Amino acid sequence: RARPLVAKERLERARECLSYPPDGKTVVLGKNRRFHFDEVYHPDAEQCSVYENLVSPLVESCFNGYNATVFAYGQTGSGKTYTMGSSASNALTEDEVGIIPRVISDVFAGAEKLRGQSECVVRCAFLEVHNEEVRDLLHPDTPTKGISIRERADGAIVVSGIREERTRSYDDMLRLLENGSVARTTGATSMNAGSSRSHAIFTIILEQRHLTRERMRANRGAYSSAKFHLVDLAGSERNKRTRAIGARFKESININSGLLALGNVISALAGEEQRTLATARGEAPPPKTHVHVPYRESKLTRLLQDSLGGNSRTCMIACVSTADQNLEETLSTLKYAARARNIRNKVIVNRD
Ligand code: ADP
Ligand code: MG
Repeated sequence: RARPLVAKERLERARECLSYPPDGKTVVLGKNRRFHFDEVYHPDAEQCSVYENLVSPLVESCFNGYNATVFAYGQTGSGKTYTMGSSASNALTEDEVGIIPRVISDVFAGAEKLRGQSECVVRCAFLEVHNEEVRDLLHPDTPTKGISIRERADGAIVVSGIREERTRSYDDMLRLLENGSVARTTGATSMNAGSSRSHAIFTIILEQRHLTRERMRANRGAYSSAKFHLVDLAGSERNKRTRAIGARFKESININSGLLALGNVISALAGEEQRTLATARGEAPPPKTHVHVPYRESKLTRLLQDSLGGNSRTCMIACVSTADQNLEETLSTLKYAARARNIRNKVIVNRD
């Protein structure tokens, strides 16, 4: 998703360095560097079309017991928070509202529609990974040492020490989202005054008890559950651009370690996929360069383990700036996204 030029860039007479052929699936950087994706959103694309095309089908599949994940990747100022809607939204018009409030709205509407057929319990959690420490944004006083990440025997990732909140309405959950985003660590850098140096993961947990035979048959059981992770990653830029110094420099190193680990996981998974494809085509697979997927290299990849190459329908939104002064970072984001696109996840329904 390419964002429009912001006021500051227009003042500096920045030029746009991206163009969008009419197929809606290609973006061209400069004169002739072409990249193909499942969808390409140009600067005039509206929040609702991003939501309807990419995210709304995932909400639907949560009601059928599938996990889902959406994450926004890109340099600071590229539109991740705007796209995800992971900050206070009271200053926005209805059209400008981002993904998370729209998901919340659809989850409660979906639960209401199933009234009498399935009983839904909706909870949420809001975590932040900052300097390789996990914080509970809904309970900011929880000491980070009390929070740990484990893998259950069935491969599911469990975070202990955090408290999920039961919510009964859209307003309930939106208030938690807004309070949590205020607690999120932000710090100013020379690139973006409100820039976030942390990864934020908002999770909606939907549990259903099915009351009718039809719903039990459709879900093959009396209970089903699904988790929806909505991830606003920290800026992907290298730290020379942010002119980070001192404590902020330490933050940059840690941010890079999370995103670096994410890159390594993506490489390993994408490499595996290339091997599978080659074997399926009856060709000799490329040499096995990765013996394992390095999820354990960072808290971020640990938390996202079952979303990346695991049991989740996952959508990655690569956010880029159109301004020519960001060309180098835009190129690096497009390359990263092209690689991530090779991953195929294996989803199963969570039933009991
Ligand atoms: P990030 O979270 O990646 O650092 P932000 O989401 O804060 O970036 O976006 C930076 C600025 O650009 C904000 O002022 C935001 O309102 C604006 N912006 C981002 N994407 C869009 C868009 N698609 N349309 C209009 N404004 C946008
Ligand atoms: Mg942001």
